Amino acid sequence: MNLNKNYENLEQSYLFSTVARKVNEFIGKNPDKKIIRLGIGDVTLPLCKAVTQALHKAVDEMGVQATFRGYGPEQGYDFLRTAVQKYYAKRSIELNLDEIFISDGAKSDLGNILDLFDKDNTVLVPDPVYPVYVDTNIMNGRKVIFADANGDNCFLPMPTKTQPACSAETSSNTFPPADIIYICSPNNPTGAVYNKEQLREWVKYAKENNAVILFDSAYECFISDPELPRSIYEIEGAKECAIEFCSLSKTAGFTGTRCGYTIVPEALSKLNKMWLRRQTTKFNGVPYIIQRGAEAVFSEEGQREIKENINYYKENAKIISDTLKRCNIWHVGGKHSPYIWLRCPNNMTSWEFFDYLLENIQVVGTPGSGFGKNGEGYFRLTSFGSKENTIEAMERLEKILK
Ligand SMILES: *Cc1c(COP(=O)(O)O)cnc(C)c1O
Repeated sequence: MNLNKNYENLEQSYLFSTVARKVNEFIGKNPDKKIIRLGIGDVTLPLCKAVTQALHKAVDEMGVQATFRGYGPEQGYDFLRTAVQKYYAKRSIELNLDEIFISDGAKSDLGNILDLFDKDNTVLVPDPVYPVYVDTNIMNGRKVIFADANGDNCFLPMPTKTQPACSAETSSNTFPPADIIYICSPNNPTGAVYNKEQLREWVKYAKENNAVILFDSAYECFISDPELPRSIYEIEGAKECAIEFCSLSKTAGFTGTRCGYTIVPEALSKLNKMWLRRQTTKFNGVPYIIQRGAEAVFSEEGQREIKENINYYKENAKIISDTLKRCNIWHVGGKHSPYIWLRCPNNMTSWEFFDYLLENIQVVGTPGSGFGKNGEGYFRLTSFGSKENTIEAMERLEKILK
């Protein structure tokens, strides 16, 4: 047997292991200092009541002969797909049930979808970005090119020559035509969000190049401005060129419970059929119990409860963003996202700033350079900590930076 040599081309990621090592070393030397972690990439608030009640009920059903369930439909139970359909309909997006596929999370589907594409396709990925897009393509041996996201384009790269300027300068960012385009909005790690006009440009570009957009909307629930698109299908024509990946992980605290949904429009008829075939062959569906929990997220009660949790995180984000504003630190995100992406002060590198914060105020964040070359000189803070800790961390930060 021969091994898949593409794995040798994966870059080792030392980001989170180095963060952990540095923090542990510091604790070893300073056992009495209180560390505040604002680098967390996982939710911390528990599942809401509507969800846990639905989970309990489903567990009981599984223990009774008359309501026991074995294998379910690979694409998900109709009750959950209907709930997703209604969720989109509220935003005037009409989906057929056949376009909705229930998944065990967005990460799996983002990787698995690549089964449908030729190895020779070129992939366009923004830099910096969620590492899964690059690594899954490298495992398949696909060529990856990058769309530079930087301060000049507010970390929102565009397919056109002239970038929308957010600072005084404009940069031109051209790349060879790509077949597969990744867009993550609201973005991880930057928290930047595309507006409708910008997504319209991407849809136009994808159609002109006969490319597919893989749209990751894992953070759509964090958008509160009705003018900002929470789904790519809010853009006319997007059903002809885009697949959308959604997750209940960050929106409803399902990171450990595992459920999401992927939309493969029937307008992309070959892809829709191929994905169904792929899923029915390689996947046996999400557990019934979990799908009942997920269904409860879309109930009126569930929606109200998850909004409370999201608002808690968003308040933390605002506390961070307001502090950075007072300290004159350039940043994006923090408004429609749990992430705040800041430019390290005094031209520090990402790791220099990491050490500076750890040594001086014991606040832990994530060095931007770990998310791609354009991340150097930037730093990610997250709002998934407690409010008390977020306030304390920001008081410490303001003291040393102001
Ligand atoms: C957290 C996250 C996901 C969600 O992954 P799950 O597998 O659903 O937990 C997807 N995309 C991005 C950008 C994320 O940050």
